[in-house]
Amino acid sequence: MANLTWRTSKSKTRSRKAANMKLSQNINLTECPNCHAKKEQHRVCKACGHYNGKEVVSSEE
Ligand SMILES: [Zn+2]
Repeated sequence: MANLTWRTSKSKTRSRKAANMKLSQNINLTECPNCHAKKEQHRVCKACGHYNGKEVVSSEE
């Protein structure tokens, strides 16, 4: 059974959520195969806009 909300104190819930926030912020960074810049895994490269060998977002400005 899932945790009962009324059995879990506010401080317990909030401290657990705070701990998980730190986890979610710890993003895995990989090297972009196109421009070799550091990029987030499973995300479009912010430097060149490429993902999975294709240009998804136009980088021309
Ligand atoms: Zn790139």
